[in-house]
Amino acid sequence: MSESESDSEVFDAAAATELVKKLRRSFTTGTTRSYEWRVSQLESLLKLSLEHEEDLCNALHSDLSKPVLESIVHEIALLKGSCKLALKELRRWMAPEKVKSSITVFPSSAAIVPEPFGVVLIISAWNYPFLLSLDPVVGAIAAGNAVVLKPSEISPRTSSLMAKLLEKYLDTSAVKVVEGAVPETNALLEQKWDKIFYTGNGRVGRIVMAAAAKHLTPVVLELGGKSPVVVDSDINLQVASRRIIAGKWGCNNGQACIAPDYIITTKEFAPKLVECMRQELENFYGKNPLETKDLSRIVNANHFDRLTRLLDDDKISGKIVHGGEKDKSKLQIAPTLLLDVPRDSLIMTEEIFGPLLPILTVDKVEDSFDIVNSGTKPLAAYLFTNNKKLKERFVACISAGGVAINETALHLTISTLPFGGVGESGMGAYHGKFSFDAFSHKKAVLYRSFAGDAPMRYPPYTKGKLRI
Ligand code: NAD
Repeated sequence: MSESESDSEVFDAAAATELVKKLRRSFTTGTTRSYEWRVSQLESLLKLSLEHEEDLCNALHSDLSKPVLESIVHEIALLKGSCKLALKELRRWMAPEKVKSSITVFPSSAAIVPEPFGVVLIISAWNYPFLLSLDPVVGAIAAGNAVVLKPSEISPRTSSLMAKLLEKYLDTSAVKVVEGAVPETNALLEQKWDKIFYTGNGRVGRIVMAAAAKHLTPVVLELGGKSPVVVDSDINLQVASRRIIAGKWGCNNGQACIAPDYIITTKEFAPKLVECMRQELENFYGKNPLETKDLSRIVNANHFDRLTRLLDDDKISGKIVHGGEKDKSKLQIAPTLLLDVPRDSLIMTEEIFGPLLPILTVDKVEDSFDIVNSGTKPLAAYLFTNNKKLKERFVACISAGGVAINETALHLTISTLPFGGVGESGMGAYHGKFSFDAFSHKKAVLYRSFAGDAPMRYPPYTKGKLRI
């Protein structure tokens, strides 16, 4: 049972205060700091993922019609990988890092000692509800914190399953799930936390940051944005088309934070790109994609209506070159390509987060840089080219949370790379060791003996002491 169900009918500010007190008491005992506790919790999370794969796939299917392969590969396997990596590396991550000291304090030594922040809050989003909830939990536990997780109410089956499973598998004196929506989140946000880790949209990101500011609580904000794909003409067109499709529709039907949001290519190359993408879309999803089982559905009617509004914008009338069919009863919209949409159309002014993919055209591929840099900084930016100079310029000149060349989305799977945004796509990062770091304070420690006590630092401050 989740905290909201087990402890009280309504999870209000008083219940939240009680919960934080309880967790703070646990944290203060020092249990969560021990290597053994961290390992036992990580092993249990791994066990949970292994023993409940089918339940998780069913919950994800119920919330999003997520195809089983996507649930296993994009959510459960990535979580397992994070647990395994943390278990393998934990001793090394926890070890103090010796650093050079200074002659001014000779003899001495210095070290950076990671310590847990304390009691942390993780608020997660609905689109990858299992991974986005538990991947930060792996980092928080590895770093030795007590944790409250607030999953998204928009994916209720996965939320309640996680609440049930975490209660069963993890130490409930230090790890709690609070289910609920805005009132419950607000009750939690009123509390003093030692760190808040939020995944979701920037509007709520601002609410989270304002609440955190009251207590000077540090935050990680994992947000979104419009992630561009720049497509040059000297490419393997089929591979590029397939990889764009995989990163867009193959990732929760475009409802992914790093899904390609729009393409920029040259006027000359656009027809070839459209033709190839059409062909590959048909190869992957058939002639009637509203019937396929290989696409997640739109999560709910609100999001379906939001996407419909983007398509109904007069400014893009006649711009659909592929797809556009929709069925509200199934909450499904076919993979849709739009060509030459105006930059002031609705679809180009907000994050799409769905199966629509507009294509902008430019005279020269280099002109795409100004378009990308004129918007807010995206979470991801993609480039398809064989041109070495263009790759170098893209990496140097495009500011984004992450960049992938001749690929989409998969940079997220590389645990040695930090995952996070910049500017309006977020702040802070996680994955691999970066998850441990996100939930650790790096404490500066100086060790001295009683030797080498220099009289010149003490009063009286005579002129002679200035001559150093
Ligand atoms: P969401 O609606 O599930 O909201 C996220 C969390 O915020 C939920 O737990 C929800 O309960 C809480 N919330 C919602 N409104 C609130 C309010 N008014 N006050 C307090 N809390 C509130 O998810 P979403 O925001 O629709 O998620 C989609 C967005 O998240 C997109 O912008 C996407 O790009 C971004 N995203 C980013 C990442 C990343 O890792 N950077 C991952 C997934 C999604």
